[in-house]
Amino acid sequence: MINKLYPWQESLFSQWMQAGETRHHALLLHGKAGIGKLDFAHTMSAALLCLEPQQGFACGVCQSCHWLSEGAHPDFREVTPEDDDNADSGKKKTRKRQQILIDQIRLLHDYLSLSSHRVNGIRVVLIHPLEAMNVAASNALLKLLEEPPPRTQFLLVSHQRQALLPTILSRCMQVEMPVPSLEQGLHWLQTQSVPNPEWVWHYSGGAPTTVQQDAPDWYAWYQQFRPHLVNGATIDIAAAVPLLIKQGMEQAIQALQKWLLDLWLCCHQQPLRYHHGETGPLQALAAAVNLSRLLAFQQQLNRFKMTAQHPLNQELQLEQLLLQYKKIFG
Ligand SMILES: [Zn+2]
Repeated sequence: MINKLYPWQESLFSQWMQAGETRHHALLLHGKAGIGKLDFAHTMSAALLCLEPQQGFACGVCQSCHWLSEGAHPDFREVTPEDDDNADSGKKKTRKRQQILIDQIRLLHDYLSLSSHRVNGIRVVLIHPLEAMNVAASNALLKLLEEPPPRTQFLLVSHQRQALLPTILSRCMQVEMPVPSLEQGLHWLQTQSVPNPEWVWHYSGGAPTTVQQDAPDWYAWYQQFRPHLVNGATIDIAAAVPLLIKQGMEQAIQALQKWLLDLWLCCHQQPLRYHHGETGPLQALAAAVNLSRLLAFQQQLNRFKMTAQHPLNQELQLEQLLLQYKKIFG
């Protein structure tokens, strides 16, 4: 689908499309993950490149739209961490790189030094997530932002603006991306036929678009995993680990982080953030929590998240994590 805009983004979209020539050459679209920033950037790219836009949106049928949907538009470049798939002649599982490398930005320099495919046409460069650039890549990008090639629109997407270099920030127009209201988020989830939209809304932390990317069966999975969490000190680790693996490492860690945060909030008589309607079981667990061990485990999970992409020893790693979980009680 070439146009994918969420209801909470509509007015911002028309504002930027109508800006035309006055639009800043580098828009930094920032905000928390799960609110549709990348879809916004793709929709805007398509609209800017389309030969016959319809009411500000890409038409979906012209040559430009066709190229874009084939992933072969000569005036569009998307830069994102690339899969590290030649690490070991296909023996290891492909894993996602964490960084955008300087070589990728150098290629961008080469590309932008040529003229656009379409005579006097616009070129669009989409980079995401921007915080994935290391310092060398950031500095290389800075040169492009300081002396932008003519008729080039940079769309830079970031979940963590605070992690970006101030020099980069100073060269962009910073656009805080709108977040959905409860009403908008719930309504959107309902239109996606997501089961239990209200539960999903809370569990996503008000970031509903993560649902489609990550786990369409969140609720079903959670229903299976929940009893293990609720068991606290008596958790059956051997039975719980396969469920976590099924969900993928990143999601597994997130599920544990969300549960621990709500457990911590419960210990401090604060309203829950993610587990709507789970006050009862969480309060029962909170009564047995050792707070300093809970904090230590949260920190361990944060550190673990940095290396969680590595496909080796997942089972062992998760077993150790759940053992830590067991120990925070009593
Ligand atoms: Zn078109």
